Amino acid sequence: MALIACPNCGKRISDKAEVCQHCHTALTGDPDKVRSAARIARIEQSARLMTYSFIALIVFIAGIAYSAFYAETGATWDKWLAQIATAIGFVWYIGLRIRIMMFKKQKV
Ligand SMILES: [Zn+2]
Repeated sequence: MALIACPNCGKRISDKAEVCQHCHTALTGDPDKVRSAARIARIEQSARLMTYSFIALIVFIAGIAYSAFYAETGATWDKWLAQIATAIGFVWYIGLRIRIMMFKKQKV
């Protein structure tokens, strides 16, 4: 048994494995089918990352909007919550953008 790199996610897997244990890409059968399955898995992962970054952006914008609309009310718990949401949304969004960037650099 040898270890090979998964054609989809690049993680180390057994050359006997029928499905990648990390990304669940099928590895047996027709090489063309394996490649197209890998491509579909990549597209799905890319779509997932885009969805997450969209949610993160909404959390970020909602936090800012809430803070902006209720700025005069002083430091209340909901303002704190809005600021925390803004911070989390921002960090989450940046993290996801970096992941998307690195993901797009990967060779298929
Ligand atoms: Zn994989």
